[in-house]
Amino acid sequence: MLIRVLGSAAGGGFPQWNCGCPNCRGLREGRVAARARTQECVAVSADGAAWLLLNCSPEIRQQIEDFPGLHPRGSRDSPIAAILLTNGDLDHCLGLLSLRESHPLVVYATEAVRRGFVEDNVLYRTLERFPDQVTWRTLKLGGEEEIVGPDGRASGLTVLPLAVPGKPPIHLEHRGARVAEDNIGVRILERATGRLLAYCSAAAAVTDEMLRVLDGADAVFFDGTFWSSDELPALGLGSKRAEEMAHVPVGGAAGSLARLTHLRTGRRVYIHINNTNPMLREDSAERAQVAAAGWDIAWDGMEMTL
Ligand SMILES: [Zn+2]
Ligand SMILES: [Zn+2]
Repeated sequence: MLIRVLGSAAGGGFPQWNCGCPNCRGLREGRVAARARTQECVAVSADGAAWLLLNCSPEIRQQIEDFPGLHPRGSRDSPIAAILLTNGDLDHCLGLLSLRESHPLVVYATEAVRRGFVEDNVLYRTLERFPDQVTWRTLKLGGEEEIVGPDGRASGLTVLPLAVPGKPPIHLEHRGARVAEDNIGVRILERATGRLLAYCSAAAAVTDEMLRVLDGADAVFFDGTFWSSDELPALGLGSKRAEEMAHVPVGGAAGSLARLTHLRTGRRVYIHINNTNPMLREDSAERAQVAAAGWDIAWDGMEMTL
């Protein structure tokens, strides 16, 4: 299984356009040891020819250009077989609207995420210019789905959606009700080799069920948004704690680093990293702590073969 990280940052990217936090300012001024990152998107392939995108960030156009594996092979073509949305946050799905140039798209999402994107969304009409411009395939918790491209060709990948605590996107929070299908993780199986990637880029908590499902994967990608619960308030950047934004912090006694210590997994990678997170700085104590525990911090352009 081939994995290529196209974007590794949380919503806003790094640096974020309106952010003057120490990380963003330091990066712009060349004073911190860190690299810029675009918003989260990961490409996965069994054969290097057909790719599954995990999420579709607002920076998708540049992310495709930056990776030759996704360049067209003919006058109108894309190696993107399908796109899978793990939730309806705009940093995960806004890029779909940028892929509007009359090309058939296959999108895997839960019914809650699909409805959140298409209902009452006048801009979605740009993806309804011809029949079957977008083929939605419904993900159900615990139900395996084979990833098949618009041409009907199997990609060799099967996904198993997992219940992961989360929330609906901010623009739908006024509707009130939360459902389990607002946010999922996925276990991706390469059928020919049995290789397994567990992908969970947003998680409000680490449940025992998640621990069971993540265990034994050849690689785990996990939510690295915030280092601490009070990261934003402590920087004067609002009042919300990490958990209120549906992200379990990395550090601390109840953080994911501690909770995931005993996972048996080949590679472990934090992704979806917010620009405020101190572990983005390569010389920080927080970075040393995650590295000592065997974790990598995803970067744009990171590649992995399982
Ligand atoms: Zn996000
Ligand atoms: Zn910042």
